Amino acid sequence: MSSSFDTKVVHQKLNQKQVQNSKNTPIYQSTAFTFEDLDHLESYYEGDVPYLYSRERNPNTDELSQTIAALEEAEAGVATSSGMSAILAGILAVASPGDHIVAADDVYGGTHKLLNAELDTFGIEVTMVSFQDLENVQQAIKENTTLLYTESVSNPFLRVENVEGLVQLAKDHGLATMVDNTFATPYLLQPVLKGVDLVVHSATKYIGGHSDVTSGVLVGKENLIQKATQKVVTLGANLSPFEAWLTQRGAKTLGLRMKQQSGNAKALASTLEENDLVQQVYYPKFVSERGNGAIVTIELSQQVNVETFFKSLGWVKIAPTLAGVETTVSYPIRTSHRALSDAQREQIGINSRVIRLSIGIEETNDIIQQFEEALKQSSE
Ligand SMILES: *Cc1c(COP(=O)(O)O)cnc(C)c1O
Repeated sequence: MSSSFDTKVVHQKLNQKQVQNSKNTPIYQSTAFTFEDLDHLESYYEGDVPYLYSRERNPNTDELSQTIAALEEAEAGVATSSGMSAILAGILAVASPGDHIVAADDVYGGTHKLLNAELDTFGIEVTMVSFQDLENVQQAIKENTTLLYTESVSNPFLRVENVEGLVQLAKDHGLATMVDNTFATPYLLQPVLKGVDLVVHSATKYIGGHSDVTSGVLVGKENLIQKATQKVVTLGANLSPFEAWLTQRGAKTLGLRMKQQSGNAKALASTLEENDLVQQVYYPKFVSERGNGAIVTIELSQQVNVETFFKSLGWVKIAPTLAGVETTVSYPIRTSHRALSDAQREQIGINSRVIRLSIGIEETNDIIQQFEEALKQSSE
C-alpha cells in the first residue's frame, strides 16, 4: 500500500470477509461492485455473481423484493423508487404500444393521473370503468386489451374487489391481471393466491409503515417480473439501498402493526356508526379473517363544521398520506383526488364532507375519544 495521503485515504478499508456475519443486513450503499480479475467479471455475465451495478441490482433491494414476494406467495419481485414507478413498471411488462388496458375508475389519484395523462405517451390506451359490476369490465374489453387493473381495497371508500371474479374474467379473455394491494397488505390479503399475475405496493404506506421512506414493490409471475425489472433498470426507477433497507426494517413489524391498527380501526368504525354527527361510515365488512384494514372513511353530517372539525383533532394531524403508526386524517377533495374534475369526483362520491382516517397503533380508547371530542366540538 502506498504511503501517500491521497491514495491511503481511498484504499483503507475493512476486510469485508471478516464482517460477513453481522446480525442485520448492512446497507450496501455502493453504486457498483468490484472484481478481482477478468474471469471474475465474466462470471457476472454468466450469472454466477449477482451484483455489478446498483441501478441494475443491489443486495438491499433484493432483500426487500424477496421478502415481499415471500409474504405475497409470489414467484418473484422487484423493488422500485415509489409505488407509482412500481405501477408503471408492472403495466409496461404487460402492455406495449397499441395495447389497451381496462382499469377501475376508483383507483388512487396518482394512478388515475398516470393512466389518463401519461400512458398515451407510451402508446397505451386506457378505459376506466366501475369494477363494482364485472359486466362493465367485460363490456370494456376490446380486441387489443391485455390487462385488467384494479385495487384490492379501494380509496377512499374501501370497496373490496371481487378478485376471484376478475381473475376468471381475465382468464376467459386471455388477459393479465394486476392488483394494487397497498391498503390490504399481504398480512390481510394475498391476491397471487387467487390467481392474480402482478401485485403492486406503495411500500411508502404499510410495508414501510413509519412515514420515513418512499418506495414501491411489484411481485408476481417470474417472467413478468423479469420484464418489469428491465423497465425499472432502463427507466432508472430503481430504489436506493438505504431506502430499501429502511423499508425492509419497517416491514418486520407489518403483522404487529396491522393487527393493532386494524383492531383500532374496527373499534372506531363501530363507535362512529352510532354517532349522529357522522352521516356515513365506510369500513369494509370482510377483507380477511385477520381483519378489515386500518382505514376508515367517514362522511360528516350537515351539523358538523368541517373546518372546525379539522381544528379540533388535537394530536391527530392532517397528513396527505396514510398507514403510519400515528393516526392521521386526510381530506381527499383537497389532496389525493384534487387532480380529478368535479364530474369525476362526483361519479365516485367524493364531496367536501368526506374525510379519510388512517388509524395508528395508539391505545384504542384514546383514538375513539379524540374523534368523539372533535365531532362534539365542531357540531353546530
Ligand atoms: C400512495 C399510493 C400509491 C402511490 O405510491 P407512492 O409510493 O406515493 O408512489 C399507489 N397506490 C395506492 C393505493 C396508494 O395509496
